Amino acid sequence: MTTPVRDLPLLLLGSGADPASERGVDCPGELPPASDPLLVERAAAAKAALGDRVFVLGHHYQRDEVIRFADVTGDSFKLAQQAAARPDAPYVVFCGVHFMAESADILTAGHQRVILPDLGAGCSMADMATFDQVEECWDVLEDAGIADDVVPVTYMNSSADIKGFVGRHGGVVCTSSNAKRALDWAYSKGRKVLFLPDQHLGRNTAVLEMGLSLDDCVVYSPHRREGGLTQRQLQDAKMILWRGHCSVHGRFSKESVDDVRARVPGVNVLVHPECRHEVVTAADQIGSTEYIIKTIEAAEPGSSWAVGTELNLVRRLAGAHPDKNVMFLDKTVCYCSTMNRIDLPHLVWSLESLVRGEVENVIQVDEETARYARVALDQMLALP
Ligand code: SF4
Repeated sequence: MTTPVRDLPLLLLGSGADPASERGVDCPGELPPASDPLLVERAAAAKAALGDRVFVLGHHYQRDEVIRFADVTGDSFKLAQQAAARPDAPYVVFCGVHFMAESADILTAGHQRVILPDLGAGCSMADMATFDQVEECWDVLEDAGIADDVVPVTYMNSSADIKGFVGRHGGVVCTSSNAKRALDWAYSKGRKVLFLPDQHLGRNTAVLEMGLSLDDCVVYSPHRREGGLTQRQLQDAKMILWRGHCSVHGRFSKESVDDVRARVPGVNVLVHPECRHEVVTAADQIGSTEYIIKTIEAAEPGSSWAVGTELNLVRRLAGAHPDKNVMFLDKTVCYCSTMNRIDLPHLVWSLESLVRGEVENVIQVDEETARYARVALDQMLALP
């Protein structure tokens, strides 16, 4: 018997691996109480009062109560592109997490202000690679005599500092949709890749799409001396993976795939490439959030789908496609807790502040970091 998505326990365990991603950041104003029965009306009224001056972006993993006010929904890169395509809107309210708002700030015009309704909405994966750690790693690669052969590639889910580092060192940003193209480009420029910060996306792309073996990959651990690797291991590797992961997608297991196959005959298992290697190899299909959405939309009525990605999105897909049996891949995996910090009270507070002419929680990347990060982002846009 399958547990309907709506009946799953509502857990918020998502990204608790690194407290920095959930740092307590007090709202600088007065948040409306979550119990206020007029929150929906207040959000609608503030948005209407702002008109075209505000553009609200909603990441696929956001709560329904927030998504209903988004002008555009999408993954992090699509949302940053959309913000850049609306230079007439001076205020971009980004319902997502910190690194996404940074990318939007880098890609939007100078007069636009990008606002994150809760500054505590970080990302545990992005926090797993700090600028100092990556600089130290580069020193280790130099000591091993291989830095000139290494092209750094960073996943979109990284801080502006890391994108800037990658831009300064001739590398590229990638998303879960274009990781193979980014790696093709990187290997045309150098013999090795340093992949930041998600080891799973790097490994899955290298092994399943590039034909590398697991032995071609090594994992650099920023908390261990010299990454926990010998110089020989670094010299022999083709792919140097940063020890980072998504705390939400990293929780899916091979057992959850086996379990759903036993419970639901004929089920299709569809997972995000941030999942562990043994999970994606056991799945039927792998793809980005945009791919997952399109696949479910195009699926045959009556077909069954166990989806391995964030629960808000899976619940929404299940609700939008009642003619298909869409279920969560695991019984216990939960929401991304940092994404969930953006709730209706925070959105109402951000919008009403703008109506009063108070621009709060602006995300602004310093000029030099933005310039180099843009080099790496532009290189991604120029990928064949
Ligand atoms: S789902 Fe994972 S990668 Fe995305 S914001 Fe949450 S912790 Fe970060």
